Amino acid sequence: MDLTTYAELAVLLVNGADRLESLAGLRLLLNESGRGARAARATRADLEAMRALRAELVAVFESADAGEEDDAVARLNALLIRHPVHPLISGHDGQRWHLHLNEDGGIADQYAVGCVMGLAALVTDLGVDRLGLCDAAPCRRAFLDTSSNRSRRYCSERCASRANVAAYRARKRRVAV
Ligand SMILES: [Zn+2]
Ligand SMILES: [Zn+2]
Repeated sequence: MDLTTYAELAVLLVNGADRLESLAGLRLLLNESGRGARAARATRADLEAMRALRAELVAVFESADAGEEDDAVARLNALLIRHPVHPLISGHDGQRWHLHLNEDGGIADQYAVGCVMGLAALVTDLGVDRLGLCDAAPCRRAFLDTSSNRSRRYCSERCASRANVAAYRARKRRVAV
């Protein structure tokens, strides 16, 4: 199992503020994250807990993006303590035996364990500077930089080309003046 793939859960949640405006939105987010099995049973309390988790993950990405590595790691360690992993070997639906990180706890607890283990694995494998926030203002969506030369600055191709056009226009203006 490659734990770093779980870090995508954190990106999905950090970028999913609009999803957390309603229970229906939360169910959509859970489906998008491949955790649809429990989505139908999501409650208001789960929604509140997911909002709180999102705020903590945003703070991790902000610290990492600002180059404050010790702060990002301290925040991740606090989350690791608060959301302990209870791994279980599972073999459902005819699949090979594989690890599930957490079978118990609420929806947000389970989601948190995935996010936090994923981010912890990514940060220790590749570095804290792999967590980023989009540079194309006012976007600030989160992304994971898995490029070989740590060069990623934007959340998407769309933001990259928008930023390139803006930079080109700014250069042209400077030349014209
Ligand atoms: Zn499974
Ligand atoms: Zn962006």
